[in-house]
Amino acid sequence: MSLHPDLKSILVSEAEIQQRVQSLAAQISQDYAHVGGELYLVGILKGAFIFLADLARRLQLPHHVDFMAVSSYGATAHSGEVRVIMDLREPIEGKHVILVEDIVDTGKTLNYLYKTLLGRKPASLRTCTFVRKLRPSLDVPVDYLGFEIPDVWVVGYGLDYADKHRTLPFIAELEPHVYSKPT
Ligand code: 5GP
Repeated sequence: MSLHPDLKSILVSEAEIQQRVQSLAAQISQDYAHVGGELYLVGILKGAFIFLADLARRLQLPHHVDFMAVSSYGATAHSGEVRVIMDLREPIEGKHVILVEDIVDTGKTLNYLYKTLLGRKPASLRTCTFVRKLRPSLDVPVDYLGFEIPDVWVVGYGLDYADKHRTLPFIAELEPHVYSKPT
């Protein structure tokens, strides 16, 4: 199969992703077996929607799904502040919540969301991140992690570059010349 010219290489294959998501779902199902139907998955749009869809469909226990959206990077450079642009529909007070994120880079987004959700007094709060970059980041707890990846710009499985490559079934590194040029 030939790769799109924007892409340098595949970092995590479709088969590896599917296998890992299955084992994360099995782990979460085991860990939350005691909470009955009170598990709330909070997905962060847009990047986490594919991961969340696959994860949720593999859970072996009843659960609710809700979404938040935050302001994101312009293209690849961090704009600084994190802002909620779409909030949850349901209150999470007293619920068991797992925050489902696509990627931890600097950790600013996860740190902000973690504090925001904790302030709403859930019964418990854990985080599940599909990938984390191997680079210094804020010390945010990641309870469930899919993969650690090098500190490069990646796309696929929900992650985009200027809204492109989001639906690739694997994670690929973007060619540096693609993201270093202004969009
Ligand atoms: P952080 O706040 O941890 O620096 O960044 C988190 C957000 O930045 C992610 O939710 C994602 O939207 C974006 N991001 C960071 N690195 C990448 C990357 O390599 N690829 C893509 N597509 N988005 C990224």
